[in-house]
Amino acid sequence: MTSLPEPQAGQKKLGLVIDLDICVGCHACATACKEWNTSGFAGPLPDFNPYGAEPCGVWFNRVHSFEEGEEEGARTVYFPKSCLHCDEPACVTVCPTGASYKRAEDGIVLVNEEICIGCKLCSWACPYGAREFDQDAGVMKKCTLCIDRIYNENLAEKERLPACVMVCPTSARHFGDLGDPESEVSQMVADRRGADLLPELGYRPVNKYLPPRAQRQAPRPPATERAAPADNISIAERLARWADRVLSR
Ligand code: SF4
Ligand code: SF4
Repeated sequence: MTSLPEPQAGQKKLGLVIDLDICVGCHACATACKEWNTSGFAGPLPDFNPYGAEPCGVWFNRVHSFEEGEEEGARTVYFPKSCLHCDEPACVTVCPTGASYKRAEDGIVLVNEEICIGCKLCSWACPYGAREFDQDAGVMKKCTLCIDRIYNENLAEKERLPACVMVCPTSARHFGDLGDPESEVSQMVADRRGADLLPELGYRPVNKYLPPRAQRQAPRPPATERAAPADNISIAERLARWADRVLSR
């Protein structure tokens, strides 16, 4: 079993802050992650049966979606998910070889593929489904927070960010030191009441999610108007009403 580094005062904790209010589910982050990492530190990231009925492969970042609310208040929330670089990661402590480890200097959780035996204990221990098994290499892989970008002196300083953060067209993704309460990301979390994913499990994820803001909604028309029989309304009028509803949100 593998030990975690001793906690230290002022510990640097690099991670992501993801704004669920403005993520539009475009998958640019997932695609940029795949592209960068397939030729980077943890690459290649294989695909199996990519053009078949059941394609699968190694993706460090996946975007899920779910419906929230009902009727006019319903909306789709997009939910990108990758390793959360937890402070209490059982994925590390269950590892029998020391292949999974958490770095003392910045809190990033990594896998040393040289000594991973592919037993998959870590993926069973991760409640977030963030581990990805590479069937070709027989080893476990995962998000590295792009350690080969963020410390890469061959890149311009403004580009030393995870690929997913660089590419997000709506700036829904932010990167920084969540161990420093004065950092921009920590301030953002404090201002927007950023939250942990499944805090009750005690893994203490470093990555944080900013919740969707309450929706602005136009006042609903009186019940009598809403209950008008659909047959009496022309298609053009129904379309106009739908457009009016959508544009007034
Ligand atoms: Fe480990 Fe999963 Fe936490 Fe990442 S999200 S550190 S893989 S437990
Ligand atoms: Fe450790 Fe590899 Fe087993 Fe995961 S699959 S627990 S990294 S040896």
